[in-house]
Amino acid sequence: MIPLSDLIDDLRSRDAKRVAVQLPEGLKRGTAMLASALRNEGFEVVICGDACWGACDLALDALADADVLVHIGHTPVTQEKNVIYIPFRQDIDPEILLSAVPALECFAKVGLVTTIQHAHQTQEMAGWLQDHGIRAVVGEGSVRTPQPGQVLGCTYAAARSAEADAYLFVGTGVFHAIGVSLATGKPTFALDPYGAGDVQEVSADRLLRKRFVQIEKAKSAKTFGILLSSKSGQCRKELAKRLESLSPDASIILIREVSEMQLRNLGFDAYVNTACPRLALDDQSRFPMPVLSPAEFEIVLGLRSWDDYVIDEIV
Ligand code: SF4
Repeated sequence: MIPLSDLIDDLRSRDAKRVAVQLPEGLKRGTAMLASALRNEGFEVVICGDACWGACDLALDALADADVLVHIGHTPVTQEKNVIYIPFRQDIDPEILLSAVPALECFAKVGLVTTIQHAHQTQEMAGWLQDHGIRAVVGEGSVRTPQPGQVLGCTYAAARSAEADAYLFVGTGVFHAIGVSLATGKPTFALDPYGAGDVQEVSADRLLRKRFVQIEKAKSAKTFGILLSSKSGQCRKELAKRLESLSPDASIILIREVSEMQLRNLGFDAYVNTACPRLALDDQSRFPMPVLSPAEFEIVLGLRSWDDYVIDEIV
């Protein structure tokens, strides 16, 4: 649900006449309704139709033709002018936490983490856990995750800052929970608020086994393409330059959308990803060749040991 009256007040206070709107893939079907509502209030509307998965991928080009870009779904990951962010919120009933209590009782301090949809309820959920005998804490936000307890697939700062003995991730899927487990090294449990209500302890073992296979495959690569994203919140130029300097066989590739076809056409034996960290860790099955994280590339080159494996994060 978009707080339309607040948005309109904000646009009027900025004296905006022409407004670009960008919705992420999961919410894109709301575009027509939003555009129509803004037009009814007297604004000209530009719709940004390209794929978007996060606030790391702002349609800043649209600002050449609009006074303000309205980005729906996420909180900011970079500081940009003339962008209004409207995070997507979904309320959940804290009673769903009941199934997690038995698994968490043995830990002195439990860090509560979640994604942006539920980040407005972290204090409420932590309070509920406290009332049920769990010492729950919520870590501070960070530049990319401004809400307390909020995590992204590229940033687990809120988990680390909680300095807990174990973590409970509330949200869909297990990728973020596995990320928390890798980033903190602590037992991590996942609870899907829309699932059957079961809590599960996640393990990074399966992911690490798969990454080990890709690292071994990449050891025979003769050429490495260092993927440097042109997206506003994924562009890690200094990191890409450093990685390129590590091997005479590495070349930086400026790229926007990373697809199997693009990587095949470019023809490198292996790639090193400095764009969204999920590409290497979560999407490897889409690619027929190894797509390594920065730390994995260092392992391939013998500059880091497997025991020093770290999850890739954008900080
Ligand atoms: S870089 Fe990836 S994980 Fe981070 S906000 Fe963008 S899409 Fe999400």
